[in-house]
Amino acid sequence: MHNNTAISELIEAGKWISQRGWVPATGGNFSARTNSGFVVTASGFDKGQLGSHTFIELDHVGNRSASAAKPSAETELHLCMYKLIPAANYVLHTHSVAATVLSRVIKGHSLDLDGYEMQKSLTGITSHLDTLSIPIFDNDQDIDRLSLLVSDHHLHMPIEHGVLIRGHGLYVVGRTISEVRRQLEGLEFLFACEIERLKLVGLES
Ligand SMILES: [Zn+2]
Repeated sequence: MHNNTAISELIEAGKWISQRGWVPATGGNFSARTNSGFVVTASGFDKGQLGSHTFIELDHVGNRSASAAKPSAETELHLCMYKLIPAANYVLHTHSVAATVLSRVIKGHSLDLDGYEMQKSLTGITSHLDTLSIPIFDNDQDIDRLSLLVSDHHLHMPIEHGVLIRGHGLYVVGRTISEVRRQLEGLEFLFACEIERLKLVGLES
């Protein structure tokens, strides 16, 4: 895929994600794997109003080409996900209310969901009886350290759909733009359901 194609897809995805309220106040960042490396959103721009000048182009090892825009520190975690999951061509990172709150309320190292029909919106999940497990990592401003933790976790429990960062948000991966968008929407729906369920039955249930 050419950089320009990926940038157009991410601009379009950004409008949709912003309308859903999942990237408030310039939060979040998006990226894609391309023929020449990667494209990733620059820091500090409204993700609902992206343009070609709000992207940074990186080569295959993640070095940036000449660009005036500043990369987000979180770019490192995007590159980490691409390294761990060779099939991933897109990473969307959002700061939704549901992902932020749920990742704080769940004290363990993963959010484990079952019983929801909408789990099937995630690639590889074929039944509500399957357990969908999304690992949760404590937030860390040191992205290199966080990336190491994610890599280490992946060695013994491969990451399939994405990861939650506690009190921070979601990173979701996909092979195509439609797959990554579907998985993002599916996970956000499930997070919102789980919060509503916990409000009614309490944390121990
Ligand atoms: Zn973030």
